[in-house]
Amino acid sequence: MNRCAALCLVLLLTLSSGAFAWRLIRIPSLTDSDFSSIASMGYDIANSSRSEGFVDVMVEDRFVEETMLRFPHAKVLPAEWAQPMNDQSRNEFGYYYGPNENNAFWANLAAGSDLVDTPVAFAQSYQNRDIYHVRITNAGSDAPVIFFNALTHGREPGGNSALIDFAQWLTSEYGSDTMATFILDNAQVYFVPMVNIDAYYYNLPSGAPNHRKNLNFTSGTGIDLNRNWGYMWGYDNIGSSPDPYSETYRGTAAFSEVETQGLSDLMVELMPLGGFNFHTYGGYLIYPWGYNNQPTPDQATFQSWGAQMAGPVGYDWGRCYEVLGYSSNGDACDWEYGDQGMFFFTPEVDDNGFWGSQNDTTLIVTNNLECRSMSKLLCMNLLGSVGIEAQEYAGVGEGVEPSVDISANPVGSVLSFTVQGFGAPIVSVLDLSGRVVARVSDSGSWAVPSGMSNGIYYLVARENGASASRAFTVLR
Ligand SMILES: [Zn+2]
Repeated sequence: MNRCAALCLVLLLTLSSGAFAWRLIRIPSLTDSDFSSIASMGYDIANSSRSEGFVDVMVEDRFVEETMLRFPHAKVLPAEWAQPMNDQSRNEFGYYYGPNENNAFWANLAAGSDLVDTPVAFAQSYQNRDIYHVRITNAGSDAPVIFFNALTHGREPGGNSALIDFAQWLTSEYGSDTMATFILDNAQVYFVPMVNIDAYYYNLPSGAPNHRKNLNFTSGTGIDLNRNWGYMWGYDNIGSSPDPYSETYRGTAAFSEVETQGLSDLMVELMPLGGFNFHTYGGYLIYPWGYNNQPTPDQATFQSWGAQMAGPVGYDWGRCYEVLGYSSNGDACDWEYGDQGMFFFTPEVDDNGFWGSQNDTTLIVTNNLECRSMSKLLCMNLLGSVGIEAQEYAGVGEGVEPSVDISANPVGSVLSFTVQGFGAPIVSVLDLSGRVVARVSDSGSWAVPSGMSNGIYYLVARENGASASRAFTVLR
């Protein structure tokens, strides 16, 4: 048995026996073949960055030394990045909400607001827990659906945190923030906070095994629910594994698991325009295809939305291989787009390991705000894609003759526009929160300041109570 095979066997035995102390190790990897050789050694790859040139692997404590000998330039990452520290003096997972706090949060949100429906169980997990969704809207049941989900992997609380933050923001800011109002007046926003609810509970007790996959242990250590979807399932053994002990084990068949069955059935029923499948970690916004590195027919849309959402918050965006250096097959995003034509993205949120923000509210809030910014833009883009434009609601110009128009969108360095129906209007550029970021002459041309972030803005003209507005996107 060669050294690699021996290590693989050790890792497999470790996983199957349920080891309790874990560390993340960051291995410099400068070429694409470094990525694939690390993967082929059987390591559990937690995160990787092609642009920055590293791979993070999760190893049991007692294999840290061996791994460091193998990769002398590697770095052991802080202990709290790898696992919950079981400090339950605040919440169940440090400052992160655990499963019981999640349940309470959604029940309370529904009880406290007419905008929020009571949680509805749409499926049962392997261990017969309710997997539930919550709808937030002020629109009718015919309104377009936008869909957010998290915790497909049980050790990724950062995505759950982002989802809770966005739901809270929509609910509390409705009626005062123009965009929250617009979104809820025009869309039904669905949240599935805990797809892999069993694993989130499983990770709760002190010394728990920090589990990623579901809890169907029939033939191994569970099924990776993000390799079990029915589009290009099992396309190759690189993007998913046939080995029941691998962290990317795809299961015995597409949709073999009750969790993916339930979630995909719900999506087919609701037909969302798109959404986010929240995962942790690294700071990436990923879009299809995942199973290979080819562009989809909608590459231009994915690319421009990706740039607009991810750029301002410092995330990398692109296809799985472009960003992470490896492919993945049978993932949710490929099915959502490839099978259903839905515009879903997979954000890999938070930059401090799986649990690294658990003891630091500042880090959690930073992550939440980055994700909130992307979630807002996603909603605006999705509604815009079906012709529901912000200008209709902006509260300034519905149905009035005076108008503002943009010559070309998105906008690079110069915004060209026309203003009609006014005498001598005041023309302003507003950001998404309604803050005036610039006064503009009504000459029809405005040089976008070089320091202005990419993103959505409004051009607004006002005069004597009449006004008109138009959304535009700065993209450079
Ligand atoms: Zn994940």
